[in-house]
Amino acid sequence: MKNWKKVLSKSITTPQQLENLLGVETKDIERVISKYPMRINPYYLSLIKEKGDPIYLQAVPDIREIEDTRGVEDPLAEEELSVAPGIVHKYPDRVLFLVSYQCAMYCRFCNRKRKVGKTGVNWKLIREGISYIKANKQIKEVLMSGGDPLLLEDKILFQILSELREISHLEIIRIGTRVPCTFPYRVTKKLANILKRFHPIYIITHFNHYREITPQSEMACSILANAGIPLFCQTVLLKGVNDNADTIKKLMRALLRIRVKPYYLFYPDYVKGTAHFWVPVEKGLEIMKSMYGWVSGLCIPFFALDLNKGGGKVPLFPSYIEKREKNKWLVKNYKGEVFEFSLV
Ligand SMILES: *Cc1c(COP(=O)(O)O)cnc(C)c1O
Ligand code: SF4
Repeated sequence: MKNWKKVLSKSITTPQQLENLLGVETKDIERVISKYPMRINPYYLSLIKEKGDPIYLQAVPDIREIEDTRGVEDPLAEEELSVAPGIVHKYPDRVLFLVSYQCAMYCRFCNRKRKVGKTGVNWKLIREGISYIKANKQIKEVLMSGGDPLLLEDKILFQILSELREISHLEIIRIGTRVPCTFPYRVTKKLANILKRFHPIYIITHFNHYREITPQSEMACSILANAGIPLFCQTVLLKGVNDNADTIKKLMRALLRIRVKPYYLFYPDYVKGTAHFWVPVEKGLEIMKSMYGWVSGLCIPFFALDLNKGGGKVPLFPSYIEKREKNKWLVKNYKGEVFEFSLV
């Protein structure tokens, strides 16, 4: 396999390259990427079939990113909640650790649009983050994210993981990465051999459409799964990309086939520059309703909302309760039939 960095360096980053390929308006794109960078690597580019398709919408800048003023830069108040460089400590027992702001593709809907492709991380900052984790014994889990941690070079990853594993109170290392989906060439056997030395390692990847599941992404997931790494997926509900039951069901089933367990289906965050992807909450609930009972429970994610101002994640469920009278519950099943339910 070719060197992944070489392949990544052939990414599209200027409007002129895009104009030749897809006939987009270079002036608009120029304006957008002066604020939010673009990077479309050759692999992800090859998945685009036509202008406006679900792959295109995730990768190609849209003038609405700068013209639509709804939303805020940091709705989850991550900057405010940051207790050390790159560390967001919101829940008592686990922290988010932002170790890289590079990605193999800059997703247009990203909730860290304010940072990706712009901010840098260096060893000094990473060390300070690790020191914070070391000093706080209640931290049992670290969620490495960014950006994409797997855009770090193997030897840097190895170094970070080694230092984290020296912390005795730290039990779980979770890595959030989109490369199995957007740039599967990054997932080499060498990478898997490094990761598996630091178990228990969990990977949460991020697929949004069944067309992202290809022989290459399947291979990447299989290399990781064969290294004993449990794989999960978070998906963002996005207008025009996957906001219908059929697409989500196909995606979730396909993920299960490549040994990835759907974990979260996120309602989009209130991020500036992403409003053209927003959908009503009811849409998500309706999609969830089309899954419970109708598809394998294994491939049903939690539909969740990350509350503004750092309120945290809350699951949203469609209601199956029709009525409650004293101890008698009337419950509707997935087919809409009503059942009575009461034990005590
Ligand atoms: C999402 C998130 C986590 C992880 O939450 P889980 O529900 O355990 O997946 C941890 N910390 C922060 C700051 C987060 O945003
Ligand atoms: S890979 Fe993740 S962090 Fe990077 S741009 Fe996409 S959504 Fe944002």
